[in-house]
Amino acid sequence: MRWIRDRAFPIDDKAGKTYRIAGVAQDVTERQELILKLQKLNEELENKVEERTSELKQTLKQLEVEITDRQKAEATLQAATDITDRKQAQLELQSSEERFRRAILEAPLPIILHAEDGEIVQINRTWTELTGYTHSDIPTIADWLEKAYGSKKESVKADIDVLYKLDKPIVEGEYTIATRSGETRIWEFHSAHLGTLYDGRNLVISTGIDITERKQAEAEINQLNETLEQRVAERTAQLEQANQDLEAFAYSIAHDLRAPLRGMHGLAEALLEDYGDKLDDLGQEYARHIVNSAHHLDDLINDLLDYSRLSRTELNLGSVDLNTVVSEALAQLKTDLEKSQAQVTAMPSMPKVQAHRNTLAQAIVNLLSNAIKFVDKDSQPGVHIWAETDDECVKLWVADDGIGIAPEHQKRIFRVFERLHGIESYPGTGIGLAIVQKAVERMGGSVGVESELGKGSKFWIKLRNDTTKEG
Ligand code: ADP
Repeated sequence: MRWIRDRAFPIDDKAGKTYRIAGVAQDVTERQELILKLQKLNEELENKVEERTSELKQTLKQLEVEITDRQKAEATLQAATDITDRKQAQLELQSSEERFRRAILEAPLPIILHAEDGEIVQINRTWTELTGYTHSDIPTIADWLEKAYGSKKESVKADIDVLYKLDKPIVEGEYTIATRSGETRIWEFHSAHLGTLYDGRNLVISTGIDITERKQAEAEINQLNETLEQRVAERTAQLEQANQDLEAFAYSIAHDLRAPLRGMHGLAEALLEDYGDKLDDLGQEYARHIVNSAHHLDDLINDLLDYSRLSRTELNLGSVDLNTVVSEALAQLKTDLEKSQAQVTAMPSMPKVQAHRNTLAQAIVNLLSNAIKFVDKDSQPGVHIWAETDDECVKLWVADDGIGIAPEHQKRIFRVFERLHGIESYPGTGIGLAIVQKAVERMGGSVGVESELGKGSKFWIKLRNDTTKEG
């Protein structure tokens, strides 16, 4: 069997009349078979699609059922958990409320809870104990204001009104309240917003701290302090006056001593010069003693005058170059340095300090003259001067290789008239280091010594660094 596709075409004459029919037959068996195959396949496919669709529909339906079931189950589950939770929460809420209520009631501090319309919602035991007012005496803030503050109630009311709008706890400050028995107490109030009540009213918790005793004690202390300060001030003024008097006295005495001393000195020398040949050896020796003693006394008087002048004069500090001031000191000591043949070395570039130039020069002179003086007899002194700088200070060192100072004496040598040796072995007045100390302290610095007996001494002066830039 074969498939034929047959087609016919009319052929018309000029007048348009069909006069014959032409036909074409085409064997389309293969194509037809293909088409049939395709149709069959299509049908199969459609069947399959239908099957699949219905399968899917079925699955979908099942899924829907399952989802609904699940949702139901979840809902049930959720409902079940919520209830448990809520119950739990409720229980917890209840017990925490109970704890809170009890904490407030039994707190050792006076506490009230009050609502914004002025109702006092709760008042604790301590409040009642301290004020004497029970909740029924003061059911509202207005009652409390009336009873505790009397004529001052309006201004306190204004303070309380702002509490209902608080967003953070505040310390209201101190208030003087009247208790039921008529006693006045001072309370410091602390307040905080405590949420809202069931009906939406803002609730505030206010705590009082009774500071009556503390205030009394403070007042007493203040009173005592005032008297104490007054007494200290009086005493200081007295001491300052006494000190000034003493210094003035010392100064004038020293001054006044000079004239007769000069007389003694001059006359003793005149005695030696003019009458020396009339005196025997012992007489001459006595006269020389008088001359020497007068000399020594003159030195003492001069040093004392320097010392007391130091405390009396105003010292204006400025920038002082240590190299310059050390050179000046060395120049002042030229004769002594030459006589002792001292070897002095100084660090070439030393910093600047805040000081009073002449006063610092005097202090350095004193240290240097000690450094070349306190050496073993006939030995040549060696002195080294250098400076160390840290952030704020400069330490100027004067080190010698002399006889040294035992540790137990290192403090006292800075006091007036403290000397470790007899005048015969080492001359001096015992005021040099006292001058150094006073001078340096008056310039805001400090002094000290590091030494060992027989191993030389290192004296230092510490002063503030001068940070002012040049130019
Ligand atoms: P002065 O030098 O007039 O005796 P100072 O006040 O300057 O008085 O010194 C007090 C004492 O401290 C001195 O008598 C001496 O015993 C001791 N002293 C001071 N400087 C030195 C030193 N560089 N080495 C050893 N001893 C010293």
